[in-house]
Amino acid sequence: MSRAADQAVPVVTLEHFIDGQPVGGAGGQFGDVFDPATGRVTARVPLADADLTRQAVTAAARALPGWSSTTSLRRARVMFRFRELLENNADELARIISSEHGKLHDDALGEVTRGMEVVEFVCGIPQMLKGEFSENVGTHIDSWSLRQPVGVCAGITPFNFPAMVPMWMFPVALACGNTFVLKPSEKDPSAALFLARLLQEAGLPAGVFNVVNGAREAVDVLLTDPRVGAVSFVGSTPVAEYIYTTASAHGKRVQALGGAKNHMVIMPDADMDQAANALMGAAYGSAGERCMAISAAVAVGEAGDRLIEALAPMVRDLVIGPASSKTAQMGPLVTREHLAKVREYVDLGVTEGATLVVDGRNAPVEGEAGGFYMGGCVFDHVTEGMRIYREEIFGPVLVVLRVDDLESALRLVNDHEFGNGTAIFTADGRSARRFVHAVEAGMVGVNVPIPVPMAFHSFGGWKRSLFGPLHVHGPDGVRFYTRLKTVTARWPDQSPTRAEYTMPTMK
Ligand code: NAD
Repeated sequence: MSRAADQAVPVVTLEHFIDGQPVGGAGGQFGDVFDPATGRVTARVPLADADLTRQAVTAAARALPGWSSTTSLRRARVMFRFRELLENNADELARIISSEHGKLHDDALGEVTRGMEVVEFVCGIPQMLKGEFSENVGTHIDSWSLRQPVGVCAGITPFNFPAMVPMWMFPVALACGNTFVLKPSEKDPSAALFLARLLQEAGLPAGVFNVVNGAREAVDVLLTDPRVGAVSFVGSTPVAEYIYTTASAHGKRVQALGGAKNHMVIMPDADMDQAANALMGAAYGSAGERCMAISAAVAVGEAGDRLIEALAPMVRDLVIGPASSKTAQMGPLVTREHLAKVREYVDLGVTEGATLVVDGRNAPVEGEAGGFYMGGCVFDHVTEGMRIYREEIFGPVLVVLRVDDLESALRLVNDHEFGNGTAIFTADGRSARRFVHAVEAGMVGVNVPIPVPMAFHSFGGWKRSLFGPLHVHGPDGVRFYTRLKTVTARWPDQSPTRAEYTMPTMK
């Protein structure tokens, strides 16, 4: 990259968003934000220290009494307006996502839509907050249950869906009457700041939604400050485990979604063209940087040779280029470091003895030489003990394992550390039914490669892909962001007039 080219791009200095105001990071630390398509620094992001993070929690705590006592109908109306603004600004938001993440424009638009669906879901929040009422649970006694907000909630989110993953969290939290502090990924923070401005335009009062940029120092405040009641996290498994144990130990409810190695089982009776096409999108869409990407294909019986035959030419022909390209099918990886890590995994796979059927390490690229690009890779004859199978690579690298039958495929999936999503491709209903019943994963597809639940269902994995009992958005999201209260009441003139010393039973 030439110095002249470097100087041609203005470097923007980003801010935090606290109490309805942009707050600068003067005097503090900053991190670089890159355009992955060019490799150039485009922004500097302030990294909040503990004091600044506490300032955001204070703003959220101050806004809580007003917002939590606003009627659910009024809160829903803010969400209706936010939804309109999202739709009107979808293109701009997608452009912002692509400029820091690298994903293709249409893929970024898809991310915006999936986030918007959560907003649509919470436009009906009054219906979901309706309690339960039982008349006469005892003589002259009524009982009812209601859901109340948890308080100040925090969200800590990953780089790979800088708009959608925050929107898995804050629309539900806000609609339920909570206030929120979001700590987005420091790799692509601009989408979160854009969302904060749209929420403000939608009429959300100051302090109800705050964005703190930063890294571990900011996160540690959110995990330990006694004013934070709930923490939602999405990211890698080691960090998810740390978030879960630390925030739980500080008395907070936590949902911490971690990493994945999603398996797709291909039965010999599957339509092989369909399966191969499904695998292409699922393994290489968004350069494999999706928590629901398929990164392990398990070919059963004679499916193996046919699958590789159908898949390999398509992977070789993948068009790689920037988000702005009309023809690209796959964009760059997010950072130079991540690209280097993914390439190291490809080197490792070769050393481990897997067959590298397609080597995308030096694939031709439409974009600039400085961009963080690599092509798609396929390994065949991968075995269970190999690190390229056991570990999450989070790049455009698909590993193919071969097994004799469905039970062996199931054992493989179930023995893996992660259990986020999985899929089976088959024409046989019995195989599909057996798989759905016995597989240990939170989200299962039958001839659907990426079974991401819609906003009105809940999203989450099993095993070390999720720490905590509740999934995100949908009914579990409402449960997570509300506390249940059950009331038992009678009027004084119908109450007993003498003391009772035995365990009360409802008569
Ligand atoms: P990451 O774990 O590195 O970072 C996630 C968030 O945690 C970021 O905001 C980051 O600033 C913060 N963080 C990082 N290290 C920390 C530390 N030591 N202490 C406190 N906070 C820390 O994840 P990433 O690289 O941004 O995202 C990719 C990962 O996210 C992959 O593992 C992917 O599978 C996972 N992911 C999972 C899901 C899911 O639904 N299960 C969805 C999206 C992404």
